[in-house]
Amino acid sequence: MRNKLLTMLVIVGLFSSSFTSVVCGTDEKAEPWQIGVIARIDEHGTGLKLDSAIKANVPIIQLAAPFKDARTKKNADQILETLAKNKMTISSVIAGFDDESYESIPIVKETVGLVPKKTRAERMIEFKEISDFAKLLNAPAIMFHLGFVPHDRNSAEYKDIVRLMKEICDYVEKNGQAIYLETGQETAEALSMFIKDVDRANLFINFDPANMILYGCGDPIGALEILGQYVRSVHCKDALWAGNPGEEWGKEVLFGTGDVHAKIFMDTLKKIEFDGPLIIERENHESPHHQFDDVTKTIGFLKVLRENVL
Ligand code: MG
Repeated sequence: MRNKLLTMLVIVGLFSSSFTSVVCGTDEKAEPWQIGVIARIDEHGTGLKLDSAIKANVPIIQLAAPFKDARTKKNADQILETLAKNKMTISSVIAGFDDESYESIPIVKETVGLVPKKTRAERMIEFKEISDFAKLLNAPAIMFHLGFVPHDRNSAEYKDIVRLMKEICDYVEKNGQAIYLETGQETAEALSMFIKDVDRANLFINFDPANMILYGCGDPIGALEILGQYVRSVHCKDALWAGNPGEEWGKEVLFGTGDVHAKIFMDTLKKIEFDGPLIIERENHESPHHQFDDVTKTIGFLKVLRENVL
């Protein structure tokens, strides 16, 4: 009996230590609710250029994967050196692909992520290359838009996407990484079911409350409560509902001024015991040159909210 108990304890110990290394990259637990920004080193992806992120004085970034040619060991070393000098870490690397377009919801369906068939095979290869580059950066996770998951769980197309997700989860697991799916294109219930169907211990969520509104996929607060157990990272982004949600875009606005209701969002993060980073995402298509000012305003706003809520 005693031997049996000891064996069980060893198995539990082994599982929890490997799980920690997959999810966190290190055994050190980061401070909860670190305020960070999306950053980039070239024109691939959105977010602040890395030097602006440094100027914003944040401890953590979500880094957009650079163009293919820039995914080198030399660049990774340089990024690591810059981050170390500025006492910054990477929460995850964002995988994006050429020719993705967010022009309208139907165009997103056709062009974004690994779901579109036309580009799927080549993007699967590229996704793995991005995971290898992220490993050079010691990044613990890859975050990305998978694309619109087919709704019929019995369809061959849905099963294909589940298989594909299993494959990339297994690939990044060997690089010590987790995957964070960006929210927005599915309802919370559909996404939760999809994660269960993929059935991988390193598959989680980057919860973007504004995307739920922009894509018309349901109330973000209710969605956060449903998906809570999977949320490892959030985007602090806000939006206003469209007249015809799901058919046309909502409007992205400064965090704290839209329909997300920032205080309720933060209260709900506390309720679900979220302890990951708060990553500010601000696009501001109308005045992109205000992006830096908007981000620094949001940092100040979040610091006050964090103080009040956490
Ligand atoms: Mg987002």
